[in-house]
Order: sequence, then C-alpha cells, then structure tokens
Amino acid sequence: MTKLEQWIHSKINTASQPLSREVLDAYQLEKLRETVDFCREKSPFYRSHLKGFSSRQISTLDDLSVFPFTTSQDIRDKSLQFLCVSQDEIQRAVTLQTSGTTGNPKRLYFTRQDLELSIDFFAHAMSAFVRSGEKVLILLPGEKPDSAGDLIAKGLERIQVKGLIHGIVKDPERTAEEIKIEQPAWLIGIPTQVLRLARTQDIPEGIIRNIILTADYVPLAIVRALEEIWNCQVFNHYGMSEMGLGGGIECGVRGSGSGVRGENMPLTSHPEPRTSHPLPLTPLHFREADLYVEIIDPHTGDPKRDGDFGEIVFTTLTRNGMPLIRYRTGDMSRFLPESCSCGTLLKRLERVQGRFSNRIRLGADILSMADLDEALFPIPDLLDYQAAITQENHNPVLQILLYIKNGSTDSQILTQVQDALNQISAIRNASELKIGIDLCRDTPADCLCRHSTGVEKRMIRKRRLIYE
Ligand SMILES: [Zn+2]
Repeated sequence: MTKLEQWIHSKINTASQPLSREVLDAYQLEKLRETVDFCREKSPFYRSHLKGFSSRQISTLDDLSVFPFTTSQDIRDKSLQFLCVSQDEIQRAVTLQTSGTTGNPKRLYFTRQDLELSIDFFAHAMSAFVRSGEKVLILLPGEKPDSAGDLIAKGLERIQVKGLIHGIVKDPERTAEEIKIEQPAWLIGIPTQVLRLARTQDIPEGIIRNIILTADYVPLAIVRALEEIWNCQVFNHYGMSEMGLGGGIECGVRGSGSGVRGENMPLTSHPEPRTSHPLPLTPLHFREADLYVEIIDPHTGDPKRDGDFGEIVFTTLTRNGMPLIRYRTGDMSRFLPESCSCGTLLKRLERVQGRFSNRIRLGADILSMADLDEALFPIPDLLDYQAAITQENHNPVLQILLYIKNGSTDSQILTQVQDALNQISAIRNASELKIGIDLCRDTPADCLCRHSTGVEKRMIRKRRLIYE
C-alpha cells in the first residue's frame, strides 16, 4: 500500500478487511449520505438549496449527479448560511478576494476538527516524499495560526520533519539568504514565486533537491525551468482553500502518467515545448477519504466518463463547519482509466489543465492562459506576466505585460516573445489579432499595484491567490 492508501485505510476504519476499491466506494457512499443529511439538518443554505433532495436518493455514487451544484458565487453571497455549526465553533475564517471580480469576497469557515483533517493530510501526504530529519522551507503565508504554511508545518512536525515557515516571497534576496543558511532539501511554494527565486538568485545547485508547487494549476514550462536550474525534482500539489487546502498530490512514481503529452488536450493549442528536457506526466492521487471528486461537462453539468475532460467538482466527506456539496472548481482535468504504476487503487486525476474561464475565442480557435504560460515561461529572463484581450475597431488586441529580470535587453526579449507567441496556433491563425507588449522591470507585486487600474478588468487571468 502507498502511504496515502495506508492513511485512507486507517481513516475509514475497516482495519479488519483489506482496502479495496469497493470498500472505499462503499465508505464514500456512506459519507455522501451523511453529508447530505447533516447539511440539510444544520445549514440554512442547504436547507433551501437541497429542498426536495434527500440522502435516500443516493444508493450508488452515480446518484449524486442529480444533486444541484454549489458555486463560488453561492459562497460569496451566503457564506455564513453555509455553516453547519455555531459561529463559536469556527476556529478559522479564510477570506479570498479574487482581484478583478466584483462583489463580496469568498469566506470559508473551518472548525478545529476541520483544520485537524488538513494537518493530518499534510503529515501523511508528505511522509511519502520527505524523510525524517530533512528540512522543508515553506514559501506560503504562515504567520497566522492555522494559515496554509502553519498547517503544513504542523503536519511535518508529526513526521519529525522541520518545516520552516518563510511566508510568500516578497524579497527574493532575503529568501535566497535563508536557503543558503538553512540548506532545506525541500521547498513548498507557488509556481511563479519559486520561478522568480530561481531566475533572479544565485542559489548553488545541490541545496534544493525537491520542490512541491502548490496551486490550482502548475504550468509544465515552470516545472521544466526549475528542474533545469536547480537540477531538482518538482512535484505538483493541487488544492484550494475550499478543499481544506489539501487536495491531490502527484504520484511519487515518475512516468506513471497518460503517455503522450497533449493528447486530446482541448485547453491548449501549443505544440510540444521547445526544450527536449524529459518530463514524465504524472497523475494526482486524492485524499479520497475526505473528498469525493467528479468530472462534469461544464456546459450541461452532466457527468463525464473516465478519460474525458471536464470540470472538477468535489464534495467534502468529513467537514463539519462548512461542508461543500458538488462544488464547482472551474478547473479542468480528467480521470485516467488505466491503473497507476505505483500500484494504488486510488483514482488518477490528470495534471490540472487550467481554468475554463481563462480561455477566449480567437476566430475558430481557442486561446488559453495555459497556452500563453507554456509558450512564454521558457523565456529565461521572464519572471511573470499578465495578459488581457481588448478590442480596437472590432479587432481583438492581445495586451501582454511581461515582468522581466534586471539586466536583460529589451530587443532580445521582444524577439523571444514574438517567437514564443508564434508557436501558438490560435495566435498564428488570427490574422486580425494585434499584439501589444509591455516590458516591466519592477517586481511583479509592485507592478501589479501601479498597473492595476485599467489592466485589471481586461485580464484573461490574473494569478489567483488561493491560499491564505
Ligand atoms: Zn500512482
């Protein structure tokens, strides 16, 4: 059994019988029914949202597909009504303000027991990767008790691993200093933040041996760049605050993915990236004792078969404060039907492909932020960028603001950017498309403030801050 399976087995309390897919499915079914009953009884939101629905309708896992979805708009509008406990029992509230959106921020509430589930997940998920005695530098917000960084550090402590909470990378020089002093074998961080660190700081190869990038979507181009610069291994953790932070972690057995990269990948139109650096595709395994994951058609809401792409929807199975039933993430992926080379009976979710909302139509083609990510991030002096589509005389204009390293020359960068954009077929085919490129040598954080008015509304995507 893998570490994740051992943990799930211990949690579902069937020690007398071995873990099998059937045992896990039966457990999930039971928990789904309990969750529906609990929510209808305790939460004002679900009482009206699930009017006419009952746990008696769920006799197989597939039966959940007739239940209504919950959305981030529901959370924005009615977060307190979601609560299944009194407000006194809430240990932590997380506020997520997505820039560029109007209206209320998203507020999520967790009880002590809910937070305990996250700590427990981090302890067990990380135990498959990190050895006791190793140091992990956590480049996530961690100052507040029970914030993302703090929960991970608490999880690591349970497996005798030292988690050093650094916080998000505000000053790369200071972060690099800490790395040189502490010599952590592991980094946990947000993709563009770790990339900026790698591309601007002279950190000797051999210190950082492994990285876990945690985000809703991890560009492969960033994974490749980091593996090359530091000669390390990069793993992907997919999670979000709504999931209770922890979600799915990349299988530790490399190369156990779906085979051909880009096969049937509807989100991206980019060709194989230019570098030949081998990067096996590896799927994610989920904390299936706590989350039930579905893939649905984003337009019709119908369930998708294994192997088909769609939107990731999840239901929490063990949460108390604010359970989520069929929560639409907006993220896109698929289940891979083949079994995993690690031998697990857990499902395999392909690497998340980005968000549906980060795509726009250009003539007959679709341009996605993932296309831009994979094309632009291989440029060695690029630290981050923002992209927006505007209209000029009824023609589309792609406006890109690139944050680049000090010391790089404008003309060289502009040529590289043009070459990179020309790799994207949606851009090549759009004869009427104009492209505006701005270069900026400020740090991305400072620059966001300066450029925030105007650019913000037109974003295809601004990077979501998904952790607090
Ligand atoms: Zn696996």
